[in-house]
Amino acid sequence: MAADKPVVVAIGTGGTISSLGRDSTDVLDYPDFGRKMDVAEAVGRYPEVAAAADLVLVPFRSVGSTAIGPAEWLELAALIHRCAAERPEAVGFIVTHGTATLEETAYFLNLTLKTDKTVVLVGAQRPASALSTDAGMNLLSAVRTAMAPAARGLGVLVVMNDEIQSAREVSKTSTYRLQTFRAPDFGALGHVDGDGVQIYRRPARRHAPDTEFDVAGRGSLPRVDIVYSYGGGDGAAVDAYIAAGAKGIVSAGLAPGIPTPLERERLEAAAAAGIVVVQSSRAGSGRVAPRHYLRQKAMVGADNLNPQKARVLLSLALTLTRDPAEIQRLFETY
Ligand code: GLU
Repeated sequence: MAADKPVVVAIGTGGTISSLGRDSTDVLDYPDFGRKMDVAEAVGRYPEVAAAADLVLVPFRSVGSTAIGPAEWLELAALIHRCAAERPEAVGFIVTHGTATLEETAYFLNLTLKTDKTVVLVGAQRPASALSTDAGMNLLSAVRTAMAPAARGLGVLVVMNDEIQSAREVSKTSTYRLQTFRAPDFGALGHVDGDGVQIYRRPARRHAPDTEFDVAGRGSLPRVDIVYSYGGGDGAAVDAYIAAGAKGIVSAGLAPGIPTPLERERLEAAAAAGIVVVQSSRAGSGRVAPRHYLRQKAMVGADNLNPQKARVLLSLALTLTRDPAEIQRLFETY
């Protein structure tokens, strides 16, 4: 019995990392026909993970991450705060999560957590039952990162495929490939190698636990929707989302961040009516600057956040203010 292994809290939400398919070759149909394990069963498959740390297993959900959104983000943040308070001896957290929305949950936590313990989100591309699954190694790498002094103070982290990524920068870029999580323009913060965690750079933007967003006690976030641009788009989605209650709209515009003329008309009308419009781009990399046109129309440039991350930040920004200039400041800070 090793009495002094570091304590790591493992919160389970489900995802491929917790999935069992029909057989060892099923890397395709398991979301529809397989089964999801809770965190104890998912982590329990790997004695190497239990050997690395004293794990506190906390079940949260056993779902695909397509079923995780703002209500779950808020609940998860509250759960992490509660566990951090109840387990002061814990050095860090891992959160097992499906890869589909992992980048959104990670960025939300990066913007809202008030704990200085390391928080690592981890998923897998191949279910735990598959030949050559990445579930076990990713779990071990996540636990090693959560325990590593070198990984402290970097904000919320995403660990998969031996790579340590920043929650703000990372995005899922491939449906099936193991190297799906990339930080376009920037790359990984570091790696988990056989001899431990190696960190090469630190995120410059403000992040947890030093954030001005406070979601304690909230059960929902202001509604924000994403309007995806394409040649010939007429902007009907803008009005539909506003009718559905949107307080903010993120335009996933044509690169370098410009909607079609008809979309532009609808977005201008929305901004004039007090809906906060954030201009992002569908390119998957690069910045949308607060250029003259956007400032003139009281719209916000998304900086280099992709549309789904801009949506997370805008939802949180709207809990503080509706002033586009102030929201622009937040986009240049976080
Ligand atoms: N990787 C997917 C996820 O995000 C699997 C989807 C599913 O199991 O529903 O969880």
